[in-house]
Amino acid sequence: MENNKFGYYSDKLRIGLEAVSLASNITRKIQKALCADDILTKTDSSPVTIADFAAQTVINNTLSKYLQQPVSMISEEEGANLTDEKTLESVISFIKGTLDISSHSQLKATVDFGKSSQKTEKFWTLDPIDGTKGFIRGQQYAISLAYVEKKEIQLGILGCPNLDPDLSRNPENINNEGSLLFATRNHGTWSTDIDDPWSNLKPVTSSPELPLEELRLCESVESAHSKHSVTKRILDFHNMKQDSIKLDSQVKYAVVARGQGHIYLRIPTSDHYKEKIWDHAAGCIIAEEAGLIVSDIYGKKLDFNCGDELKRNSGIVCAPKKHHDTIIRSIGKNI
Ligand code: AMP
Ligand code: MG
Repeated sequence: MENNKFGYYSDKLRIGLEAVSLASNITRKIQKALCADDILTKTDSSPVTIADFAAQTVINNTLSKYLQQPVSMISEEEGANLTDEKTLESVISFIKGTLDISSHSQLKATVDFGKSSQKTEKFWTLDPIDGTKGFIRGQQYAISLAYVEKKEIQLGILGCPNLDPDLSRNPENINNEGSLLFATRNHGTWSTDIDDPWSNLKPVTSSPELPLEELRLCESVESAHSKHSVTKRILDFHNMKQDSIKLDSQVKYAVVARGQGHIYLRIPTSDHYKEKIWDHAAGCIIAEEAGLIVSDIYGKKLDFNCGDELKRNSGIVCAPKKHHDTIIRSIGKNI
């Protein structure tokens, strides 16, 4: 990779790409071999698998090896949830060969690398497996890593191990080749080979400005994460004829960035839920740098500087510049 081609954060990007590529390789192997014993339930009732811990370990290990310390991480998984001996051993068995970690305490410490209760201005945010429910179903998921500094996301990487690199094919179908997308602020969005991120770089741009009726909407598979009844009303309201594309994880941002879909809507299902920053940071910059506008459902810019949640925002609207305002107004009328 040409030095500085991607701006001031090129060095961090190079390290992040290596980390996500290594983690993608391991999660692919785990998804193929996943069994019921590999899936646990967290205190908030959400599922977590050995792949979530393995991916977070591999990424944290890579960042800790190459980055100047201290490093601040806001990441989804916690070493404290690794209590069961069998789970710890399974994680170690999958990372063996990639990392030299053999003790349980070393594994837990690596999962918790960079975590701190103190607020920092410069931090990485990581969702090692975004869309764990999709991962368990054998469908789409993403490995999501982003870096925030000066109150803005500066770089974002999405490893999408099941996303077909061929844009002419349906992104809902899984493809073992996979895709990797990344963006750095003001240097565009790029796609590359997930196993060899330094080769085969291609610029990524969202689709040209089509009329609203021709646009295709993306939303979550899980109706508990986004109100499908509202998206259906938006489709009807704008006379949009095509069914929505249903995908787990930030693969939705990747698909709109690549112009296969055009709008990503995430309509809150409850007044209390606050989106987590690791579920959006990488996807947000990848969509923005591909030419889209990302906001909440009221049109407000996402604020990634309130800890681990988007406390000042509600839901997500990612849409072409030309139609973003119209979509925000129609959500107001249809929610
Ligand atoms: P998706 O695959 O886009 O549906 O998003 C998966 C993410 O949804 C997970 O990583 C969770 O953090 C997040 N999530 C969990 N509960 C909710 C909820 N009630 N509303 C919105 N997102 C949620
Ligand atoms: Mg997630």
